[in-house]
Amino acid sequence: MIFTPHGKHLIAGAWVSGAGRFRSEPAQGAGFEFSTGTVAQVDLAAQAAEEAFWSFGWSTRDERAVFLETIADEIEARAEAITEIGSSETGLPAARLQGERGRTTGQLRLFASHIRKGDYLDRRHDAALPERQPLPRPDLKLVERPIGPVAVFGASNFPLAFSTAGGDTAAALAAGCPVVVKGHSAHPGTGEIIAEAVHAAITRCGIHPGVFSLIQGGNREVGAALVQHPLIKAVGFTGSLAGGRALFDLCAARPEPIPFFGELGSVNPMFILPEAARARAEALGTGWAASLTMGAGQFCTNPGIAVVVDGADADRLVGAMKEALAKTGPQTMLTDGIAKAYRDGQARFQVRNSVKPLYETESGGRQASPNLYETTGDQFLADHTLSEEVFGPLALVVRVESLAAMQRLARGFEGQLTATIHMDEGDTEAAKALLPVLERKAGRVLVNGFPTGVEVADAMVHGGPYPASTNFGATSVGTLSIRRFLRPVSYQNLPDALIPADFKA
Ligand code: NAP
Repeated sequence: MIFTPHGKHLIAGAWVSGAGRFRSEPAQGAGFEFSTGTVAQVDLAAQAAEEAFWSFGWSTRDERAVFLETIADEIEARAEAITEIGSSETGLPAARLQGERGRTTGQLRLFASHIRKGDYLDRRHDAALPERQPLPRPDLKLVERPIGPVAVFGASNFPLAFSTAGGDTAAALAAGCPVVVKGHSAHPGTGEIIAEAVHAAITRCGIHPGVFSLIQGGNREVGAALVQHPLIKAVGFTGSLAGGRALFDLCAARPEPIPFFGELGSVNPMFILPEAARARAEALGTGWAASLTMGAGQFCTNPGIAVVVDGADADRLVGAMKEALAKTGPQTMLTDGIAKAYRDGQARFQVRNSVKPLYETESGGRQASPNLYETTGDQFLADHTLSEEVFGPLALVVRVESLAAMQRLARGFEGQLTATIHMDEGDTEAAKALLPVLERKAGRVLVNGFPTGVEVADAMVHGGPYPASTNFGATSVGTLSIRRFLRPVSYQNLPDALIPADFKA
């Protein structure tokens, strides 16, 4: 073991423990003891973050860019140890963790170059019009400013890229906001070593230590106290609908409500249009199976539903999908709880007469095997349960009798992270008719691909109408995600000496 966690929280530059302990439950290898977070520690971290904001919020963009790059370097300096502890805790293969580490450092560096360019500041200037009648116009300068301390909750399925120093943390730090991370109890050791990297970067860059704290989990009160702390000004959350909704409600009920940017689950429907089905039903079935079972299906962009017009081509699609699924063995899930939730999700399908099993397996312990069910459009629309995410490799084929029925069904979907159209040239009119519906439903609409794999880029939207996210105007991936932690301030008639440096540079 290259890295042995000490199990402490990082609060304002100091590694501290508390009275309570919890033991990690890794997929492989020995568990370790970790300190349980407390409400008092949340308060200490939030106070330190507020204190840090008075310098960090006014730091230069170049200082913050160097800080982000230094975090990336410090993560890379711990590469092997991160892969080892991450793989042990989550059961994800080493190659996946290596790729995710590259994505994480890539995100940090992307934000560094993004803030150096300065476009995100959305600078606007309405010059004074002293002679204007009937009233003169004042001089108005607008620039985006950081909002203050931000709380971050990462998800179990991306222990690096959507976690301690993942997208939310990178975006908040880039904006100039200190961060308090609530560590995920599924990967506390991975959280600790990443926090160690951030801590080292803080020391190297000479930044106020309150700019980053990690409070380990093991106690749900910690998360609740964090989102309710009066000094916290926004929350970045990646996780389940149930957890996200509970914390969102707490944010809304605060005396000072704050934005809660919850990136939640999704079933990511695919609409397979007739010409595409006719031309390549087998390839679509095989491709779908590969996307569905990747990483044991533990992706928020997992394509859980395919809608297809009933008939021989739908049969070919299903046949190929079944054949491909049969070649997929059981895979280890991230936690015992997630494995149990997968079995419970499958049970929801098994008790329904409206659903027919096409390929059914039994999963046990922390393992998950794929499952495929089928229903009709009418039955799908009549039963909300069928449109709820089952986190894991379970899929549903919805057979509709016509393109008009497909259109009706599309309208019945709730908000999604993604919606996919599979089409050929002959499907263009049908796709054109579907697009306005899908665009209202999803943050990302894609053609002839599978939604797993989210590019970190300027034009990416990873979000969508509720319940895909709690804030449809935002994305949690890509450079646009910095907007969540900024607010515009207008400066009226301020002398040049008082105008924020960012407006000028
Ligand atoms: P989760 O169980 O909701 O946990 C996420 C975090 O929230 C953990 O730190 C958890 O604390 C905390 N939490 C959950 N409920 C809470 C409550 N009632 N009070 C206080 N804290 C609470 O989610 P997960 O199992 O880690 O992640 C899987 C889910 O995330 C799937 O639904 C997946 O689709 C979704 N996901 C979404 C995206 C996206 O970008 N939209 C990306 C990845 C995953 P503990 O540490 O105590 O459990």
